[in-house]
Amino acid sequence: MTDSGCIFCRIASGEIDSDRVYDGERVVAFRDLDPKAPTHILVIPRAHVPSVADLEDGDAPVIGELLLAARDIAREEGLVESGYRLVLNSGAGAGQSVFHLHLHLLGGRQFGWPPG
Ligand code: 5GP
Ligand code: ZN
Repeated sequence: MTDSGCIFCRIASGEIDSDRVYDGERVVAFRDLDPKAPTHILVIPRAHVPSVADLEDGDAPVIGELLLAARDIAREEGLVESGYRLVLNSGAGAGQSVFHLHLHLLGGRQFGWPPG
């Protein structure tokens, strides 16, 4: 399912341009327009799911591919040795601003803990 009013659905379909780094069966990934680290990639399901809270049990294969894609992209970007951060903001209170589930892959700098 796609949502024509959703920017990430339109990026996933190719209707809106993005700097694509991964094209999978259920998942695509592209560089963030406003990067928060030297490497900042968004990994998203092709299907419209607003957030983690909306996932269904049957979505396990999508989430599996999401995480494995992030692993492969991190390797390709040369981030394994230095480390990288994966972030899933779920809900406005956690900082989610685009309501199509997306996994942030951030790398290339030092990260603080706990996150802000
Ligand atoms: P959130 O704040 O929802 O966790 O993350 C949304 C992310 O999407 C932000 O980092 C923002 O920079 C990025 N973003 C928003 N609109 C676009 C867009 O049209 N293209 C790309 N490549 N990234 C976007
Ligand atoms: Zn969407």
